[in-house]
Amino acid sequence: MHERLLNYINGQWRESAATAFQAVVNPATTETLAQTPLSPPGEVDEAAQAALAAFPDWRRTPATARIQYLFKLKARMEENFEELARAITLENGKTLDDARGEMRRAIENVEVACGIPSMMLGDFSEDVARGVDEYMIRQPVGVAAIICPFNFPGMIPFWYLPYALACGNTVIVKPSERCPITLQKAFRLLDEIGFPPGVVNLVNGGAETVNAVLDHPIISAVTFVGSTPVARHVYARAAASGKRVQAQGGAKNPLILLPDADVELTTQIVIDSAFGNAGQRCLAASLAVAVGGAEEIFVPALAEGAASRVVGNGLETGVHMGPVISPQSKTRIQGLIDQGMQEGGEMVLDGRNPTIQGYEEGYFLRPTIISDIPPGGTIARTEIFGPVLGVMRVATVEDAIALVNGGEYGNMACVFTGSGAAARKFRYEANAGNIGINIGVAAPMAFFPFSGWKNSFFGTLHAQGAHAVEFFTQTKVVVERWLQSWERKF
Ligand code: NAD
Repeated sequence: MHERLLNYINGQWRESAATAFQAVVNPATTETLAQTPLSPPGEVDEAAQAALAAFPDWRRTPATARIQYLFKLKARMEENFEELARAITLENGKTLDDARGEMRRAIENVEVACGIPSMMLGDFSEDVARGVDEYMIRQPVGVAAIICPFNFPGMIPFWYLPYALACGNTVIVKPSERCPITLQKAFRLLDEIGFPPGVVNLVNGGAETVNAVLDHPIISAVTFVGSTPVARHVYARAAASGKRVQAQGGAKNPLILLPDADVELTTQIVIDSAFGNAGQRCLAASLAVAVGGAEEIFVPALAEGAASRVVGNGLETGVHMGPVISPQSKTRIQGLIDQGMQEGGEMVLDGRNPTIQGYEEGYFLRPTIISDIPPGGTIARTEIFGPVLGVMRVATVEDAIALVNGGEYGNMACVFTGSGAAARKFRYEANAGNIGINIGVAAPMAFFPFSGWKNSFFGTLHAQGAHAVEFFTQTKVVVERWLQSWERKF
């Protein structure tokens, strides 16, 4: 029997009463690491009741005192940095370097949220009428829930958690049932820091647990990151029960390659973007759009660079790319590649069914590049979420921008060029929320919003920074008069 993960409710570690469990499997070795309880709705209710009871006192705790917990959290995360990164690699498969990068981003959000006393400031306007003042205060929204995906188990909870807490909310986090161990470890740190009971809660589970969150009358705000169909569902269902909600969805990120781009640097960056984390990033390059003959320059270079990527267990040094998350994912990705070939793509580098010595059972693919893919076809339009790069040719920058703007998703779009004019035109016209200019993974720093558009995002306010503060607070406007003898001339 593998370790059953615990929930953390009202300051206590609790065994779930779940009758169903999901195995957490190391995708490189196929070893079962733990069992995630698929917590029933009653446990969401317990967490919500605890969070509600903790809210009044946490809200009254001055912001300057609330952030002291975050300073401690930052210190504890630094002390446990390697253990957290290792947990990510074990349960998710990405390389240890990628996992370290992920934890760095998580910590960066804690650091930014330590600025809440200034970020949460209100506004004041004196004498809006004679003797009348008006001001705006930010107050926490109450109980907030954070629902997470498998691909960044250490970072994505921290896109929200530090801001929600620092703004005076109490919180319930629901990690991915496939990668819940990292957060279980992070909650050990939150427990050690000694947040008042009920302020931070962890409920493990799957779709039923999520739906219980979406319907729960106590929960006022929901953040979600995951696939587009589930994001759409979360957005609609949470809104139907009167919650504020932001839901980040899937992606299909195009990188535009112009013939005047630096070949060596661009090749390296595109390869890192397409094949880092085995393509399981919401900011992974998925399409290379070669403009005006750039295909002849870049495809051979990309093929050579991608072929030399070392695929293996992410814990081992020298490995560039780990496995995909599950056997179902591997089968799905290989099926999409097959379909893309039937639709007329040309195989440049075939990464299907590799044998990785020592890890023959792991869920591995090697980097795959398919060129000349048709614009309306499977490889051009589907979020593959694996190490597959489709290449298309277009004649002009205008054609490339039209292609970007014709896509269903809008998480990221990038351009590689030596021309400032082409870059500016692209930045100005491309319909995507995160833009890279000679950058392949345009991940915003914690003090900028993580800005998906179109089917990559449902809502108004995004994750991180000032948007998170806005999301986790509600504004109250006060119009105020104190009658004084010298003010009585209306
Ligand atoms: P997923 O949608 O399968 O799961 C995300 C969460 O939703 C999990 O906590 C899961 O328990 C829950 N869930 C799954 N099915 C549900 C259902 N039917 N009803 C209610 N809840 C349900 O996503 P995933 O596979 O874990 O993550 C990968 C996806 O996340 C990709 O599409 C990727 O692009 C996206 N992603 C987006 C961003 C972004 O910023 N836009 C960031 C990271 C990942």
